[in-house]
Amino acid sequence: MTEIEYNIQKVRENIALAAQRYGRDPQEITLVAVSKTVGPPSIMAAYEAGINNFGENRAQDLREKYDQISSPINWHFIGHLQSNKVKYIIDKVTLIHSLDGFSLAKEINKQAEKFKKTMDVLVQVNVAEEKSKFGLAVEETESFIHEVSKNYPNINIKGLMTIAPYVEDPEEVRPVFAKLRDLKEKLQQKEIPRVEMKYLSMGMTNDYMCAIEEGANIVRIGTAIFGPRK
Ligand SMILES: *Cc1c(COP(=O)(O)O)cnc(C)c1O
Repeated sequence: MTEIEYNIQKVRENIALAAQRYGRDPQEITLVAVSKTVGPPSIMAAYEAGINNFGENRAQDLREKYDQISSPINWHFIGHLQSNKVKYIIDKVTLIHSLDGFSLAKEINKQAEKFKKTMDVLVQVNVAEEKSKFGLAVEETESFIHEVSKNYPNINIKGLMTIAPYVEDPEEVRPVFAKLRDLKEKLQQKEIPRVEMKYLSMGMTNDYMCAIEEGANIVRIGTAIFGPRK
């Protein structure tokens, strides 16, 4: 067994444990392997071990890896996306996790229209209101979603995403995850065109078990699969 295979097995076991505690099927949880900083050989090792969702946070990297790898991979864009980079990834990604403002929405809509597609996105929420992080405030998320729905027919909003503050003990950020779940549940009640609150993308290496216990159904994991980044 390769190290990456072993790591994935461990992560899957932990996902199953946390899912059980939340009372749901581990199959409902999508594991996105965050492959930023690793090259095609590591990505292929993870792919061979059964992973077919990979996350990148730079448009240029995603584009290069997309061209280097021919296997049918679902690519996720998970970082802050500059509007002028949308055109490089729009035809390559399955899900953009990081819609964080109107100018980006406008550009995603424009490029999606060009490619005759409707782009699936998550709205990034800065639940913990960290200055260093992108994303909408919890209070402005609902009106943002209404506006995007009204103005941008080539965007499907599929859920919410957050990045919790890094802390030693993930229990400290449990309320952050709970707050995003509550927001998702509240928005689920509203019937907004092209808005389906299906996914909650939250949880990274340090805190994914906690995030799943609070309702995450997409986790984004890099270090626990590929090892520490240089
Ligand atoms: C890097 C990154 C991750 C993965 O972080 P790890 O701690 O290595 O699991 C998840 N989400 C985003 C947005 C990231 O940039």
